[in-house]
Amino acid sequence: MKKIKESNIAVIGGGISGLSAAFFLQKAGAKVTVYEREGKLKQQGLGFLIMPNGFRVMSRMGLAPKLQEEGTPIFKTVLIDEKGKVNTIQSMNSCYAITRPSCIGLLEESIGTENIQYEKKIIDFHENSGIVDQLEFSDGTMVKPDMIIASDGINSKTRNFLFPDHHTKVVKEKEIVSIIHSPLLSKMLKHTFVKLRCPEKGFNMGIIPVGKDELVWYIQINTTLVDAPGKNPVEIYDFCSQLAPSLPGLFKRALDVTNYSNAYVWEMQAMELLPSFHKKGILLTGDAAHPLLSFTSQGASSALDDAWYFNEVIQAGYSSNEELFSTFYNGRKKVIQQYLSDGKILLDQFLFPGKYSTVDLPYCKP
Ligand SMILES: Cc1cc2nc3c(=O)[nH]c(=O)nc-3n(C[C@H](O)[C@H](O)[C@H](O)COP(=O)(O)OP(=O)(O)OC[C@H]3O[C@@H](n4cnc5c(N)ncnc54)[C@H](O)[C@@H]3O)c2cc1C
Repeated sequence: MKKIKESNIAVIGGGISGLSAAFFLQKAGAKVTVYEREGKLKQQGLGFLIMPNGFRVMSRMGLAPKLQEEGTPIFKTVLIDEKGKVNTIQSMNSCYAITRPSCIGLLEESIGTENIQYEKKIIDFHENSGIVDQLEFSDGTMVKPDMIIASDGINSKTRNFLFPDHHTKVVKEKEIVSIIHSPLLSKMLKHTFVKLRCPEKGFNMGIIPVGKDELVWYIQINTTLVDAPGKNPVEIYDFCSQLAPSLPGLFKRALDVTNYSNAYVWEMQAMELLPSFHKKGILLTGDAAHPLLSFTSQGASSALDDAWYFNEVIQAGYSSNEELFSTFYNGRKKVIQQYLSDGKILLDQFLFPGKYSTVDLPYCKP
């Protein structure tokens, strides 16, 4: 087995998880290449929270100052009921909100874009004695790395190849998400993540300032009570225009200033914990290993934590890739199981509010 320092490592997917894994592997001395199916300027996405655990990892990467510059610190979460009354204020520490393209940009810069190959979509895996040793791309080329890390997201082709019996399940919640530019709302909210809870009516709405007068908003829809719109911006606009007049001013304003060509409908998916995060010599990280419900606000942060923990296991020493990958799984599975369980509870609180007397927070404890 080659030492990390002498290894050529292929990382599939240039999202938060793949780029942060690449960062620590580079620091350990490996030659890492990230293969991303999209073009460099096609990185999409709106924004997310970097929770304290994710912030800790970005600080260890030396990226805290840039995160502070590009994103916005979130000092508190305010929950509002359907009458517009504040019913919970929770302070937050070391939590940041940032757009996904900005966060990806920071990570890309930290590993050097010369180490990322864009428009390289993995389409097949070639095995030798039960170990995948070659990756095939849609452009017909192949690579033969010493180690493969797959960070190809929630609909991971790699996970489906390695664990064909484990599928994500669509849950009874959909989310409309969009980003707006509004100096006024940005000034009003400053560093506050505000969430309107109307689970009895089948929806919640959150607004998060993500920096530079931009705010991400989302509407969670209980699809057993409310018909969610289709993916077409006109349908999303119609849905939001009907909802807007009944909302408290801040939320109505966010919908009023939205350019609906930037609005998306996401079908939420959940999956049970995999029996392992590796097989056939490939390690899964981030959403590819453990899709989490958006209620947890842990998608990006747990991906960063995976990268950091993998680095810790490498530094501790190991005698085979099998041992390295198993130690990684054994160290991560407990915390991931907790996020999976917390996510289920937060979803249940939204879908069946009558069952619960306490008010949920829009994230689970890091
Ligand atoms: C386009 C996009 C937009 C998103 N927007 C948001 C958002 O606004 N808010 C939010 O909370 N979360 C968003 N997410 C999800 C969020 O980024 C992740 O939950 C979290 O950051 C964990 O990251 P990840 O790297 O594990 O997965 P992802 O961020 O999904 O990254 C996976 C990467 O792998 C690439 N990939 C997939 N298949 C292949 C293949 N076959 N070959 C090569 N590359 C491949 C994808 O293009 C992607 O860049 C978005 C994800 C994507 C892909």
